[in-house]
Amino acid sequence: MFSPRELISRLLSNYYKNAPDLVPRKVEQREFGFGTFDMKVAGRHIAFENSAKLISYLTTNAPLFVSCSQAYYRYPGARPMEKKEIIGAEMVFDIDATDMNLPCQLEHGKKWVCEICFNGVKEEAIKLVEDFLVPDFGLSENEIEINFSGNRGYHFHINSESVMQLDNFARREIGEYITGTGINFEEFFQTVGVEGTRVKKLMGPKPTDRGWQGKIANNFLKKLNSGVDSLSALGMTSVQAKQLYEKRSLVEMGIKNGNWDMVYIKKKDEFWKNVIAKQAIMQSDKIDKNVTADPTHLLRVPNTIHGDTGLIAKKVGSKSRLDKFDPMSESIAFKSGETKVHITNSPKLIMNGETYGPYKDEDVILPTYAGVYLHLKGVGVIKGFRPSAKK
Ligand SMILES: [Zn+2]
Repeated sequence: MFSPRELISRLLSNYYKNAPDLVPRKVEQREFGFGTFDMKVAGRHIAFENSAKLISYLTTNAPLFVSCSQAYYRYPGARPMEKKEIIGAEMVFDIDATDMNLPCQLEHGKKWVCEICFNGVKEEAIKLVEDFLVPDFGLSENEIEINFSGNRGYHFHINSESVMQLDNFARREIGEYITGTGINFEEFFQTVGVEGTRVKKLMGPKPTDRGWQGKIANNFLKKLNSGVDSLSALGMTSVQAKQLYEKRSLVEMGIKNGNWDMVYIKKKDEFWKNVIAKQAIMQSDKIDKNVTADPTHLLRVPNTIHGDTGLIAKKVGSKSRLDKFDPMSESIAFKSGETKVHITNSPKLIMNGETYGPYKDEDVILPTYAGVYLHLKGVGVIKGFRPSAKK
């Protein structure tokens, strides 16, 4: 009898025999966890003395999920956790399309990921590097290693000496700063002028301010210059958006000096506070704070296969590589052969530059990687496999 699980295990084992660059640095100090078809982390507290032992484990057992700690331990296999004795830990950020509440997700659900999702998550990823990690934390782009998560997002690893010894409290603070948690954005504005007179000015953040103030000002100027639609997206009426856009040079000149009061707006305090609150939400809240705050968290090992997709959790490199990275082409692992798949209901799938579907209740012949993807996404079942595709 043909079993899709056996087929996928065989593909995984073959992949691990030849895959390059699989072993995380300081492998002997990491805790590993492995997952099966039924559980993402079925076993943890596993340690390997060296690279060869890890590779041999992967080829023999062909686990569906491979994760390791961002923390380095003296005794990574020891349990309970306290006995591991932490030496230091990388800093990790996790950005996932699931947390983005994109309109397309209402159509295809949160488990699926489409091109719009991928573009959205990439934009957030670039923002994390350009707007936070580099300007606010003084990291250089080369210190930030980016990996595709293997499914819907990106992971960022920083292993510079400056972060290795940060405790959980500091990590949580950094996570909260980046997501804007606990910041009262309304406090960024104050009305100045003589009480009782009509000459009162609304003063707010300048683009040159540090931290969130500068971000808010810059972000707004970007929206202001992109047109009426992007202003309307900030929650203002189209009349207000038009008014601001027409006087954009004047408004911009004012904001550059912290003066947010260059154009007459009724109930200006309330108006600007709403606009800013909206921007803050758009700019934050996409990062899984728990991953950043907890260095004992196990995260997908770069260049291993993600068991929900059959894609490689591919190392992307630095931010300059991310701009052009296409996860649905560059992360493909199972390149040879064809599968016959019975698809119950699948949205359009774009892989390796080809478009497949949408399919509904039909048998389709697909490249192995596409068949495995749909099977693992739970929208179809593999019925057959032919080792080499006829071309
Ligand atoms: Zn989508």
